[in-house]
Amino acid sequence: MNLILLGPPGAGKGTQATRIIEKYGIPHISTGDIFRKNIKEGTALGKKAQEYMNKGELVPDDLVIEIATTRLLEEDCKEGFLLDGFPRTVYQAEKLDEFLEAHGKKIDKVLDIAVEKEELMTRLIGRRVCKACGATYHIVNMPPAKEGICDVCGGELYQRSDDTEETVANRIEVYNSQTMPLVDYYTEKGNIAHIDGAAGLDNVFTAIVNVLGE
Ligand code: AMP
Repeated sequence: MNLILLGPPGAGKGTQATRIIEKYGIPHISTGDIFRKNIKEGTALGKKAQEYMNKGELVPDDLVIEIATTRLLEEDCKEGFLLDGFPRTVYQAEKLDEFLEAHGKKIDKVLDIAVEKEELMTRLIGRRVCKACGATYHIVNMPPAKEGICDVCGGELYQRSDDTEETVANRIEVYNSQTMPLVDYYTEKGNIAHIDGAAGLDNVFTAIVNVLGE
């Protein structure tokens, strides 16, 4: 099963991805996570990506395509994969299709998770992430038992540097102008499913399973 999770920042893609990969046994490929790992490790790629990420802008297409397709060639992607945060432009989608076709593959389903802008802003600005295990919280909607500490592993919680009010507004704008056209792109291909991302975590996951099948 070759899947794409589409949706604005804050739609809950990461949370749903965790559940999808567990249920369907496919690897989770998040280009944002790959960049954050590189930033943490201080690599040249990380340094380059950080310039764009801190402003809420997209990392240049060719760099992202190279990273995503290299990852897709790894052994664990043979039986399927879940792309999260890639593609983000029509150009990236076209290049991905070319790459998959060359390897005798295709995208089976695009899950488009939609959430209103106001709700996205609230979710992202209040989001906190565990430094150690990556679990996510919300200071109002899903606070940890002890402020600043992860319930799961006791790690320290932090705010992503691109989850500030100004950067979040820009990321949503960038999504609307550069990524939204992908909805038309995949609608034309006939493999997109629309999911109401405001329905609550469990309901969103149920809707996804209804689309993908047990
Ligand atoms: P995410 O974790 O998916 O929200 O990604 C965080 C940031 O990484 C984005 O705001 C972009 O700056 C960068 N990024 C991740 N994936 C892509 C992509 N497919 N194309 C361009 N930039 C990306």
